[in-house]
Amino acid sequence: MSIASSNGSYHSDSSSTPDVTAASRVETRPDRNTQNGREPNIQPPSEELKDDMVDAVRTLLLGVGEDPEREGLLKTPKRVAEAMRFLTGGYNQSLEELVNGAIFDEGHNEMVLVRDINFFSLCEHHMLPFVGKAHVAYIPNQKVVGLSKLARVVEMYARRLQVQERLTRQIAEAVQTILEPKGVAVVMEGTHMCMVMRGVQKPGSWTVTSAMVGVFQEDQKTREEFLNLIRHQPSFF
Ligand SMILES: [Zn+2]
Repeated sequence: MSIASSNGSYHSDSSSTPDVTAASRVETRPDRNTQNGREPNIQPPSEELKDDMVDAVRTLLLGVGEDPEREGLLKTPKRVAEAMRFLTGGYNQSLEELVNGAIFDEGHNEMVLVRDINFFSLCEHHMLPFVGKAHVAYIPNQKVVGLSKLARVVEMYARRLQVQERLTRQIAEAVQTILEPKGVAVVMEGTHMCMVMRGVQKPGSWTVTSAMVGVFQEDQKTREEFLNLIRHQPSFF
């Protein structure tokens, strides 16, 4: 068994050519929910749209009764547009590029768990942050992936407009796709600003979601082992 804990800072290892062609695809749910079965029209963000985004933020400022011309707000539209692009940078990444070269045939067949991966996402209903921790485990079928890559998979999907349920499922399916392991388990604990700061205004409320694939779904003992391991509080420092 291997357990790792992550504080969300990763090495930046470069990727070039995709290397997961052999991995068979699991049956994935649609990346995003769609209207009447229509494919979502997702375009890579163009440079021209940047100016439109800045104008839109200016309109937002006017809409909340502010004066976009006052000194403190002069550069705000540009900053907000740039921040939004950063926070949704996961749209410009792909799983194939992300794991490239980091899959190893170790013959390891025991549970690998990376706990406490910080995630920062935006809910697609309000575009307000939801943040928390993800725990990702899998039981390899010979193949393992570099531990930091699990954190990167979480980050890639988190940096898109999301709902926590789909985010959790996408991470599990991604690990299933790249490694074809015996099972994958993902638990995410998040607090949603749209619940905390508005709406029901319940600070301190947490949402827990889980996605279990393979042996974690079929075998209660394996699932319990995982759940026990993420309950235990480590103290390293
Ligand atoms: Zn929301």
